[in-house]
Amino acid sequence: MLGSTGSIGRTALRVLRRHPDRFRTIVLTAHSNGDELAAQVATVSPRFVGLVQNGHRAAEGWHFGVEALVAGATHPDVDIVINAIVGAAGLDATLAALEAGKRVALANKESLVVAGSLVAAAAARGGGSIIPVDSEHSAILQCLSTRPGAEVSRLIITASGGPFRTWPLEKVRTASLADALNHPTWSMGRKITVDSATLANKALEVIEAHHLFGIPFDRIEVVVHPQSIVHSMVEFIDGSVIAQLGVPSMELPILYALTHPERIVDDGVPRLDPVAMSPLTFEPVRHDAFPALALGVGAGRAGGAAPAVFNAANEQAVALFLAGSISFHDISSAIESALRALRATPGEDRAALLAADAAARQHVQDLFAC
Ligand code: NAD
Ligand code: MG
Repeated sequence: MLGSTGSIGRTALRVLRRHPDRFRTIVLTAHSNGDELAAQVATVSPRFVGLVQNGHRAAEGWHFGVEALVAGATHPDVDIVINAIVGAAGLDATLAALEAGKRVALANKESLVVAGSLVAAAAARGGGSIIPVDSEHSAILQCLSTRPGAEVSRLIITASGGPFRTWPLEKVRTASLADALNHPTWSMGRKITVDSATLANKALEVIEAHHLFGIPFDRIEVVVHPQSIVHSMVEFIDGSVIAQLGVPSMELPILYALTHPERIVDDGVPRLDPVAMSPLTFEPVRHDAFPALALGVGAGRAGGAAPAVFNAANEQAVALFLAGSISFHDISSAIESALRALRATPGEDRAALLAADAAARQHVQDLFAC
């Protein structure tokens, strides 16, 4: 498990703890929270522990630095890698795990956004596979069942709409950090919570779906569904639409990523009461209030380095917003500016994509440096 101290990481540890007969935690890695990592190590006794930032006191036998991520992801005793790292920092571990033939239970959608074709090539070379942890993509995978892609006419990805779904445009532009972190239906890490408020998260998810399921962008739609009960839908060529439902909890998507295509009993997955969940409603996206969605999907369609630029500009802008340095509206303006400035950036291989990522971060940093 990479990113064990995060929101997904902690939930995944809870899921694993319920199935000791089936899973053993071999590897734990985290970025900088050495205290929490040490507490986790004490409960699951992994064989390999990695901490990206050095210097933790309870660290005997631990591995330090970014190298620990790839070493953990390719550990010979590991069958399934749960990649719960946030951001493009998770890319190399995804590539290495796939290259080493592992199943990757992928929460780190940024891997696929930054380098979708490299990820596919690594899986093809090494024999690894990706099972999505993201709830929308878990839903799509479950709806597709074993039907071939040629029978799919449309993917319909649902979005909660975030905390500003009904806010007037002018109020959204100046929304505070506290407002943005107050998500109506999901409890998640800070970066993805802000992404859900701007709808940049939904752009990342459209690109993620494109790569996971091989569906062209013009057959992937987003619909706002404020209750977050229908996790996504697949329309087939005969007009039938299959949806997957569940309460907004990551327990099931994490469990399913570990057991797919099997299903197992799990008393920790909350059950759905349709009457209590009523009504379920759907509405269109307000693109004027949430421009990051169309910017990201446009970057996905453009291909090359554009998705990496979109992702990195968003990561940098969200970090500045979380630090209180820029406004909510500045996030989407920064993304737009970076995409415009870096439109001719090459993006065919890893080095080029990482250069595009760095250039986008620098562009956003420079925009607000005065
Ligand atoms: P989080 O911020 O709560 O946790 C992130 C984890 O990644 C931490 O363990 C941290 O130590 C580690 N990490 C951060 N930066 C790192 C770096 N540079 N190198 C190595 N490790 C690093 O984030 P989260 O909400 O758990 O999200 C993790 C991923 O899962 C994101 O890609 C997010 O989009 C995706 N996701 C999350 C949810 C959710 O419910 N939280 C749902 C769907 C998808
Ligand atoms: Mg999601």
